[in-house]
Amino acid sequence: MKTRVLRLAMVFALTAVVVWGSWYTEFGLGQGEEEVVSVEAAAQEPIGLPVLMYHSINSWEKKAGDYVITPEALRSDLLWLKEEGYQTVVVQDLIDYVETGAPLPEKPVMITFDDGYYNNYLNAFPILQELQMKAVISIIISETDKYSQLDENRENYSHLTWEQVNEMMDSGLIEFQSHSYSLHKNRGSGRKGIGKKRGESTEEYQQAIREDVEKGQQRFVEMTGYAPTAFTYPFGAVSEDSYPVLEELGFRATLDAQGKLFHITRDPACLRRIPRYNRPWGTTAQKIIEKAMK
Ligand SMILES: [Zn+2]
Repeated sequence: MKTRVLRLAMVFALTAVVVWGSWYTEFGLGQGEEEVVSVEAAAQEPIGLPVLMYHSINSWEKKAGDYVITPEALRSDLLWLKEEGYQTVVVQDLIDYVETGAPLPEKPVMITFDDGYYNNYLNAFPILQELQMKAVISIIISETDKYSQLDENRENYSHLTWEQVNEMMDSGLIEFQSHSYSLHKNRGSGRKGIGKKRGESTEEYQQAIREDVEKGQQRFVEMTGYAPTAFTYPFGAVSEDSYPVLEELGFRATLDAQGKLFHITRDPACLRRIPRYNRPWGTTAQKIIEKAMK
């Protein structure tokens, strides 16, 4: 209610400026017009917001590759961002910007980790705490179920347990999101992530993904009291037929991996398929972001 009143007040104020501006212009005073244009443009101008995608953060450098980097490499990325004045945001900040008109920091950046590896807790979380930076972790929920049972903490391959998820959530620095219940792990089934199978009808497809993704939402609420607001497409496999299902399940944003700059506007549709840059071994966040922001 409060936000609606606020929005109405903003619309009223803007209208007043526009009306005043056109009156001003009509009487040959001119100057007001330029001011009006800049007020309107500022309200609608898309903001370039780089989103980085990490996976495994492993101290064993031999494992480094497209989806594995060392804690030192992550640390130097984050230090560079901090020195440059970048401020980390999470998906909720984007939703608030779009839905309630909440402001974003002057130089926003979003740090994301996919799959929910245990080494995010072991290696990334302490760095994020030290630097007081926020991040988004999208977990494969069935893996977190599995490793919570096994309670096996291996830096190379284990996934987060619910206990670790809760501890990280409680820090206020980490926002968790869904990377499917188990459809990320369905190799050989003919379906890539939550992509559509060849020859599958829309109805069959939507039922299959609804079953999996809804199960993930239910497990999240059971184990944390929180329901994810964003769905991160496994392998970047996207079908348009997934949109109504994901929206129905309460997701207000989806994350993709097209390697381009995200432009945020006040239009809720801009939160669909938020593009991200993978950060492989052998480059730096600086290189990626400087190129993106050119
Ligand atoms: Zn993944």
